[in-house]
Amino acid sequence: MNPPVAIGAAEGTGASQALALREFHRFDAFGARFLYMVPSAGIFRMDEAGCAVLDALSGAPKDTDALVEELAGQFDVDRILGTIQELTEIRAIGDPSAPKEEVPNDLPPADFPLNTMVLNVTNKCNLACTYCYEYGDDKIVDTQYGKQPKFMSDDTAEESVEFLLAESRGQPVAHLTFFGGETLLNFPILQKTVAYARRRAAEEGTRIEFSLTTNATLLKPDVIQWLADNDIGVTISIDGPKPVQDGLRVFHNGKGTYDVVLPKIKELIATHRSRPIGARVTLTQKNLNVLEIYRHLTQEIGFREVGLAPVTTQDHRDYAITPDAKDHMLSQFRELAQEWLACAIRDEHHGFTNVTDTIEEIHKGVSKAYGCGAGLGLMGVATDGDVSLCHRFAGSPEHTIGTVKDGVDREKQGKFLVDHHISTKTDCHTCWARPICSGGCYHEAHVQYGDSSKANLHYCTWVRSWTHTCLEIYGALAEKNPKFLERFDA
Ligand code: SF4
Ligand code: SF4
Repeated sequence: MNPPVAIGAAEGTGASQALALREFHRFDAFGARFLYMVPSAGIFRMDEAGCAVLDALSGAPKDTDALVEELAGQFDVDRILGTIQELTEIRAIGDPSAPKEEVPNDLPPADFPLNTMVLNVTNKCNLACTYCYEYGDDKIVDTQYGKQPKFMSDDTAEESVEFLLAESRGQPVAHLTFFGGETLLNFPILQKTVAYARRRAAEEGTRIEFSLTTNATLLKPDVIQWLADNDIGVTISIDGPKPVQDGLRVFHNGKGTYDVVLPKIKELIATHRSRPIGARVTLTQKNLNVLEIYRHLTQEIGFREVGLAPVTTQDHRDYAITPDAKDHMLSQFRELAQEWLACAIRDEHHGFTNVTDTIEEIHKGVSKAYGCGAGLGLMGVATDGDVSLCHRFAGSPEHTIGTVKDGVDREKQGKFLVDHHISTKTDCHTCWARPICSGGCYHEAHVQYGDSSKANLHYCTWVRSWTHTCLEIYGALAEKNPKFLERFDA
C-alpha cells in the first residue's frame, strides 16, 4: 500500500552536512506537492517546510547550516532540521557525493508460483483484422501453415490444467484464461476444460477462476448462458462505432462485423450479470477518436469497463500511430482520466481501466523488476501444449520455456529471467518511470527490435506522460477522497 506520507512535521537536530537532491519525480495535485520516489515507488506529500527545503536545494547542494540560515525567517530551527531529517530518511535528499542508488539485480525465487495461465485453445480465427499480431504483418508464428495444430486437444487441455495446478503451488486461487485465434471456435474444449479444472481444483483444495477473450461473432444464446452459468469473465475485442469496427475488424470476405456482434454483445451484457463485461480496443492510426470510442462502448453498447491499447506494430505500417497522433491520443486519455477522477471523488464508477490499473499499481507501490509477469507468474500455452512467455508468443520456438507435459525448463526460464531483468536495461536506469514500466512489453520489443529483451525506448515519452498523469490523478484523489483508494488495498 502506498498512501502518501506527509513530510515536514517532525522536529529534529543534527550536525551540519552537505545535502543535494536525490532521485525522485515531482507531481502536484490541488496545490499540494508530492514526490514519487524512485526506485522504492513510495509517495510522499510535502508540507510547506518540505517544499521550502527542496526548493532551496534545487539550484545546488548546500550544507545544513546554510539551509537553516536561509529558511530561518519562515520556520523555526527544529522544524527545518526535522524536515531535513525526514527528507534524508526517504532519500529525497542526501550526501551529494553518495553514488546513485543501483537498480536492484536480485532474481525472483526459483519456486515463484504461476498465477495465470493463458490457454490458446485454437490458433484459427474467423476474422481477418489487418493489424492482428497473430495473423497480420507482424506475426511471429506461422499460425496458418505452421506445425501447430489448429485446435487444442482434450488431452493437452487436461495436461494444461494439471500444469497450472502444479505450478501455482497450492495458492488459494489460480487463473485460467482462454484465448485464440477466436476462442469460441473451440467451444467444446472450453466446456470440458472448465468442468475438468473445477473438479481437479476441488480435489486439490484450491480454486481456479476462468476468463476468456472473444471477438463476439460466435456468441450464440447457449454460449452466453454457459458463460453466465459458469461465472466466466469475458473481454470482447472491439474497436468502436460501426464505421470504425467495420473498417478494421472484418470477416475473411471483407465484410464488417459490427452488425453481427452488436446484438450478441447486448445479449451477453443483459444475461451475464455476475462479472463486468469488458471491452478491449486496439488503437491504430485509423481509429484514434478515443473519446468517441469510449462513449460509444460504454453509453451506447453498455460495457462496464473499457481498456484501450495502441497497436503493436512497426512504424512503417500504414496503421502505425504517428508521433503527432500519439500526442492527440494522449490528450484524449488525459481527458478521460479527468472524468475518471471526477467520478472517483464522488465515489462513482468510471470504466476507463487504463487509469484504474495504473492507479492500483501506484497505490500498491509496485516497483517492477520485469515489464510484466510473462514467463514468471503468467505463461501462455500453445495448441500443442508448448509453454511460452505469454499468449502472444505461444508457438514461437524461440520463446518456449517448456511443455505442459514435462513442466518448465528451469534453465531456459532462468536465462529468460536474467536477460529480461531491469538490471540489464541500462537505458532505463536513469528513468523515473521505471518502477511502473521496467522496459515494457516483451512482445512489443520483439516486434520493434527483433529482441524481446530490449527496453521499449520508442514509447518512453508516452509512458512517462501517462504515468505522470496517473500520479496527478492519484495525488488529487488522496487529497479529495482518500477512502476511494482503500479499494485497491486487497
Ligand atoms: S522503457 Fe523508457 S519509459 Fe520505460 S523504464 Fe525504460 S526508459 Fe523508462
Ligand atoms: S509480454 Fe506483452 S503481451 Fe505478453 S503478457 Fe507481457 S505485456 Fe502482455
